Amino acid sequence: MTKERTNTGRAEIASRSEDFAAWYNDVVLAAELADYSPVRGCMVIRPYGYALWEHMQSHLDARLKATGVENAYFPLFIPESLLAKEAEHVEGFNPEVAWVTQGGDEALEERLAVRPTSEAIIMHMYSKWAQSYRDLPFLINQWGNVVRWEMRTRLFLRTAEFLWQEGHTLHATPEEATERTLLMLDVYRKFVQEDLAIPVIPGVKTASERFPGAAETYTIEALMGDGRALQAGTSHDFGSHFTQAFDITFLGRDGQRRHGYTTSWGLSTRMVGGIIMVHGDEQGLILPPKVAPVQVVIVPIWRSDEERERVRAFVESFGGALGTHVRVRTDFSEDKTPGWKFNEWELKGVPLRLEVGPRDVANNSVVAVRRDNRQKEPVGLDALAGRVRELLDDVQRSLFERARAFLEEHTFEASSVEEMREILDRSRGFILAGWCGSAECEAEVKERTRATIRAVPFDRGDEPVPCVRCGEPGRGRVYFARAY
Ligand SMILES: [Zn+2]
Repeated sequence: MTKERTNTGRAEIASRSEDFAAWYNDVVLAAELADYSPVRGCMVIRPYGYALWEHMQSHLDARLKATGVENAYFPLFIPESLLAKEAEHVEGFNPEVAWVTQGGDEALEERLAVRPTSEAIIMHMYSKWAQSYRDLPFLINQWGNVVRWEMRTRLFLRTAEFLWQEGHTLHATPEEATERTLLMLDVYRKFVQEDLAIPVIPGVKTASERFPGAAETYTIEALMGDGRALQAGTSHDFGSHFTQAFDITFLGRDGQRRHGYTTSWGLSTRMVGGIIMVHGDEQGLILPPKVAPVQVVIVPIWRSDEERERVRAFVESFGGALGTHVRVRTDFSEDKTPGWKFNEWELKGVPLRLEVGPRDVANNSVVAVRRDNRQKEPVGLDALAGRVRELLDDVQRSLFERARAFLEEHTFEASSVEEMREILDRSRGFILAGWCGSAECEAEVKERTRATIRAVPFDRGDEPVPCVRCGEPGRGRVYFARAY
């Protein structure tokens, strides 16, 4: 679907302040990040969106490997008997599993699940590979796709097939497994905050929000521009649930065979949606420089053929050298006005634009324009590479600070369910409130406000706070929100 364009090049995107959901869809389509596919529930990631994902991947991949993790690849199909081995796991995923029942003309003897996640197949392999305590830990990550049968599609946020990484580790002791679970949560926290410029709340999921089969699920939660929460990454401590179910044992130091302890952790293309919803504005995307496919766009300005050649020679004199420091695109297309190009690259969220006209050539300088706050400044050629680097760093920092201020302004305290509902209807955001720890109170709050407990923060404090629903004292406050 191509959006209509006005003759200044501005794509017709809905107003972010008036209709956030329509704005989101329009931006994804108009900026050519993704498109709808002929298969219901699936999406096509277009080159610009895929380049963004590749930059996200390379940053996260380096962070994972820095903790000793290695990449591998496991099959897309999982035999039903393997998926069924861990009871809670299969029960949790069954409603959304896609099945292969036939290969060519032959009906299969056993149905194959299209992986909704890969614990089952990886645990099966770990049971073959784990021999002695000397082999452990196993620290394996896989970049791939998974399928969860979903009919209500939101591009990037909720699709039947999505891309992600899933890490799976096996350890000799429960302490090591817990330590790894928390370490990976911290890797996600740093990646999302430092590379995507999105502030997050780390914490623990309640039992009802836990991953199927997990003993404990840890999460980082982000706040989108419309005040709804997005789960940005999760890390699961399975204890020995899977090693018992899959009979994963190893020979301990003492010569006894014992069960190991496992973890898994994942982050997906949903975070592309997170970037759009946290940083975007009425004009479209604003991409954090660290992961932007194009960090700097050069827009030459000319009125005559003679000017065009003068500007071209000038841009060529510095464009190549600049391109060795940052990801640069020069837009020399002939059929579009400079105004059209400004709008187009703003829509695509390029963090920095360099405008170059005949007057700039005469001054041996360019005009730099930031995407985040539109500040303009002339930059002399001799200082260009250094100044561009500084401006990109500053855009990255400013985006994070702006998102953090928004999160703080949209975090409220409430002492009754009624008060929670008022706040959520008025401005949305995170609500810090007391919770006694009962699943019944959690369910009733959800029923009455559509808000769930997003995270029980690590720094909860010991102060007793009355439960927002029943008044019984609980320890500290927890984060509620309406979520994607
Ligand atoms: Zn309660």
